[in-house]
Amino acid sequence: MALVPFDDRDGFIWFDGVMVPWRDAKIHVLTHGLHYASGVFEGERAYSGNIFKLRAHTERLIKSGKILGFDIPYSADAIDAACIEVVKANDLTDAYIRPLAWRGTEQLSVSAQQTKIHLMIATWAWPNLFGNDRMKGVTLDIATWKRPHPETAPTASKAAGLYMIGTLAKHEAEAKGFNDALMLDWRGQVAEGTGANVFFVFNGEIHTPIPDCFLDGITRRVVMSIARRHQYKVVERVIMPDEMAKASEVFLVGTAAEVTPVRQIGPHHYTPGAVTAALLADFETLVRKQPSEVELLTAA
Ligand code: PMP
Repeated sequence: MALVPFDDRDGFIWFDGVMVPWRDAKIHVLTHGLHYASGVFEGERAYSGNIFKLRAHTERLIKSGKILGFDIPYSADAIDAACIEVVKANDLTDAYIRPLAWRGTEQLSVSAQQTKIHLMIATWAWPNLFGNDRMKGVTLDIATWKRPHPETAPTASKAAGLYMIGTLAKHEAEAKGFNDALMLDWRGQVAEGTGANVFFVFNGEIHTPIPDCFLDGITRRVVMSIARRHQYKVVERVIMPDEMAKASEVFLVGTAAEVTPVRQIGPHHYTPGAVTAALLADFETLVRKQPSEVELLTAA
């Protein structure tokens, strides 16, 4: 299937407070965000017309900007409203939503104190990241690129620049025939996928790495609350790569990935099983509930 470039599509994009035709949502090539990766973004999904965990995503967007030293010039309420508005303007009910805030053109140097902060929100139909074959499970290469120390990079921010490492790792994996990469951190501990968190089933318990140098994903927290409601023991701990041989099931979770079974990590093979299937089914039911009910069910 031919890829349709993102600038060759129709619809509307919310751009600095105005709903503009898709093809007019342009910026200048001398934009700070483009040269110095001074941008932060979100990835959200709407299901049956509701954006899942919208406020949590908006709060993370604002926090990501603060970590990079800037304030997004809109309130959380205004950003929430704009996300909802752009989904409606594009006549979508099930969609991926991409807010992005970045530094503008006023300065093009390492120092960027005088730059204006821009915000755009786009949306498009985007089925599961791993397509219809998701239940078969995906294959992960163990990346040679590592998640950096939190004093080396702003790892708690969903900062555009951090995705440089993810793209390198994912390209390396794809070149070897894998679907994606599993990343270790600078200590050699298991960290996460390139755009999703990872969970392991050990002896019927659900284990996941401590998110101290990568995103504590919104889906990660939702899946932990679902698992606890299912009476599974959920353990956040240091996981070393050699332990992966002993896992009975592995799955990735994230807004784009949703809950995706893993059938291989490097030399280790897995069969997606009952734990993953139960959590996946519950997640798919949860995302289609009304936002107030979602909040009640994921409060734990
Ligand atoms: N890690 C990375 C690197 C990601 O890009 C994402 C997706 N935002 C996640 C984890 C999962 O986060 P969330 O569940 O909030 O989408």
